[in-house]
Amino acid sequence: MRENKQERFMPHSLIKDVLPEIHFKEPALSKLSDDLFDKNDLEIFMLRLDEIHPVISGNKLFKLIYFLEEAKQSTHKQIITFGGTYSNHLAATAFVCKQLKIKSIGMVRGEKPKVLSPTLLFCLENEMQLEFVSRDCYKKINEKDFLKEIENIYGEHILIPEGGFSIKGKEGAGLIHQYFSDKNFTHVCLPVGTATTFAGLVDSNKNETEIMGFSVLKNLNDIEKRFEELKVNRQKKYSFISDYHFGGYAKKTDELLFFMKTFYQENKIELDFVYTAKMMVGVRDLIQKNYFVAGSKILCIHTGGLQGNTSLATLDFFV
Ligand SMILES: *Cc1c(COP(=O)(O)O)cnc(C)c1O
Repeated sequence: MRENKQERFMPHSLIKDVLPEIHFKEPALSKLSDDLFDKNDLEIFMLRLDEIHPVISGNKLFKLIYFLEEAKQSTHKQIITFGGTYSNHLAATAFVCKQLKIKSIGMVRGEKPKVLSPTLLFCLENEMQLEFVSRDCYKKINEKDFLKEIENIYGEHILIPEGGFSIKGKEGAGLIHQYFSDKNFTHVCLPVGTATTFAGLVDSNKNETEIMGFSVLKNLNDIEKRFEELKVNRQKKYSFISDYHFGGYAKKTDELLFFMKTFYQENKIELDFVYTAKMMVGVRDLIQKNYFVAGSKILCIHTGGLQGNTSLATLDFFV
């Protein structure tokens, strides 16, 4: 069923069907310039998912799309999902739910802080109901008993697991593949958090392209288990790279920031320090280590996340 669905729709027509009120831009495929690429006879492109919308850019919309489709068709117009204080996923969910007049409830990890993060304030502006869940309780959010309790308290709803980590989320992310499936890339690179987007791109890969996931977390040791849970076809060609997390989630170093600045000067493309900059450092380093054979045509997916850079804005970072 789902396979057919993916065949029939270009992502943009599906997105337009589900969210007719919002204008989304088609993402460009920008060619990147760097002497290193020429020297190694490589072509590198970037799929600019960061450009599709000023608020919900990147991969989050794709992971949500089939949940939104379901919510629109259901009678109980209520979505419940989970995330941390700085979750791009919570923000994206709040925004699209408001547009669709679907009630959204965000379960936030940890006690309510005295001062809410910009992300949580954004969620409130978009009429998301926030519920704070203690860290101990939060560990159980995928357990049956916890989910049953949520059902008792809030009634019928559509549940989106944290970060969209689910088969539906994977299928939505798989739609991204259609933006480049006719371009014969030898490698497709993307940053990995929950691995939902990675799973979607591995699953929808139809040819010999190697899908390369770059972990932004320090201890992501269970990628095979995650793929199994998401029923990913593991005969497909993929590799998981965990050497470029820079100390762990949302950690940054001067080297990383310097790279972002140089990359911006050369390509006029902003990267974010939590995800896309780490992937790009990894890609460049692997080129230097001769991972890619001459003639390779590599796609890097800009998965968005630029709101995470607000802390850098005051430094006139991107000038
Ligand atoms: C959430 C996010 C990711 C990670 O996606 P997963 O599907 O959770 O692996 C990557 N890049 C950006 C910019 C994100 O916001």
